[in-house]
Amino acid sequence: MSHSLTPHSRIAIVGAGISGLACARALADAGLHVQVFEKSRGVAGRMSTRRGEHGQCDHGAQYFTARDPEFRAEVQTWIAAGAAALWAPRMRVYEGEAAADWHPHSSSVERFVGTPAMTSPGRLLAHGLTVHHGFNVRALQHKAGKWQLDEVDGTTAAGFDAVLLAMPAPQAQALLKEVAPALAAHAGSVQMRPSWALMLHCDGPLPLPFDAAFVNAGPLRWVARDSSKPGRPGQEVWLLHGTAAWSAQSIEADREAVIAQMLAAFQKLTGLDLRQRLVGHSLHRWLYADTGRTLGEPCVWNAHCGAGLCGDWLQDDKVEGAWRSGRALAAQVLDAVSANARQVPVAHPPPVDPVECRRISFGSAQYRQTLHLRETVLRIPLGLTLSEADVHGEDRQWHFALLDGRDALLANVVAVPLGDGLFKLRQMAVRADLQGLGLGSRLVTEVEGQLQAQGARSIILHARVSVVPFYQLLGYVAEGEDFMEVTIAHRCMRKILTR
Ligand SMILES: Cc1cc2nc3c(=O)[nH]c(=O)nc-3n(C[C@H](O)[C@H](O)[C@H](O)COP(=O)(O)OP(=O)(O)OC[C@H]3O[C@@H](n4cnc5c(N)ncnc54)[C@H](O)[C@@H]3O)c2cc1C
Repeated sequence: MSHSLTPHSRIAIVGAGISGLACARALADAGLHVQVFEKSRGVAGRMSTRRGEHGQCDHGAQYFTARDPEFRAEVQTWIAAGAAALWAPRMRVYEGEAAADWHPHSSSVERFVGTPAMTSPGRLLAHGLTVHHGFNVRALQHKAGKWQLDEVDGTTAAGFDAVLLAMPAPQAQALLKEVAPALAAHAGSVQMRPSWALMLHCDGPLPLPFDAAFVNAGPLRWVARDSSKPGRPGQEVWLLHGTAAWSAQSIEADREAVIAQMLAAFQKLTGLDLRQRLVGHSLHRWLYADTGRTLGEPCVWNAHCGAGLCGDWLQDDKVEGAWRSGRALAAQVLDAVSANARQVPVAHPPPVDPVECRRISFGSAQYRQTLHLRETVLRIPLGLTLSEADVHGEDRQWHFALLDGRDALLANVVAVPLGDGLFKLRQMAVRADLQGLGLGSRLVTEVEGQLQAQGARSIILHARVSVVPFYQLLGYVAEGEDFMEVTIAHRCMRKILTR
């Protein structure tokens, strides 16, 4: 069933990290009914601060940058509210094994931190929102167009018109795999990496001529004097982060052994044996600290089932990227609400059976309809129009359309014969209101059959990174690195046709 969001729709956001809060804030400010569900007691997710008897320490995100003008403006509001400030640490880079491998780190990048703790911007964003703390969503159900959230202890929250997941990719994949497999495949295509975090409370200032350092050798990747951040008077506190590779290797190791290795690495870097100087310490294991390669899209929104994904793993695995992802998803939801408000009865009549895949002639009326569909679906959302280059040589290419019982165009794809049994598929477009119904896979499968009957042995295509999982499900294999085409990241994919 297709979802019709209205200004009165109820929206559930799972995850009160910075992406979920940015999304919730934008939707609530636009007047929508939003509820946020968060498994932990606080907000801000991986922008986190641990508090204990010896004081506090930021053990997740260390600082954030603000390059995007919209995010810069947001950070200014945080600063004005006292929830963030510039941090200008004395910085070093450590490149190797010897003491001489320390180098000063100079860059004009502005680094911001939450004040008095990294969680502060999240708390500010959450102010006035309905956040259900301690609600650990175990399963999602989608019945009669409404979403239900099942909590671990048996509680449920039901009646939502849309559900937006704002959490690390593996956690989103697990919740979606039964109820929205295509969305789960997006999340499943991304790998997130772990990091150990060791917080060290010292008996006094350490005699080191820097406050923070990037480490490019050994098990550590970052060390910082947490107490040098603004708004943190008092005791000397240091934070050490392990590299993704070493953390993955030692992820199940004995915690005392992990602490010993991190302290030994710190001693090797600085010459300081901290064991004599510690008044307290604490270790945290982050399973999802950063992302190997992001999905390459700001967010994912499926209007058909009313579900969306946002978070740092979609485009930029930083605080700034997570905030922007949340805002991008809110914009998609608000677009859906206003599109429904504008809709005059039904923009397109629903398809009439039987649906059929047909090869159509270049220059025919149906071919001209495909040009309109391609422009609407593939170009206008990118701020482009169909260009001369897009249609160059199409008189020698094969055009396929998925048509319904009244010959209405539902989807199309173009096949380019490259010789020797090799074809390239391009310009695949499915009518926007019919996406997510399986028409795309039906078209590709039928076209493969028709090409094979004409001697095709293999097919290549350039897939947008966001639809790589869709083609993987159809048996296509990704090759090589991402590359840019029409302003977005693509992968080359190939399928060998078997007889
Ligand atoms: C060790 C480390 C160092 C980092 N350093 C930096 C840095 O220096 N600079 C920088 O910009 N970024 C850094 N980051 C990354 C930054 O923290 C993240 O990009 C950002 O905070 C991600 O926000 P998010 O909203 O996407 O996800 P999260 O912050 O992970 O939010 C997800 C939320 O969802 C909740 N949740 C998950 N599953 C469920 C469920 N089933 N039910 C209910 N709630 C659920 C979680 O509890 C969490 O609160 C670092 C991260 C780590 C871990």
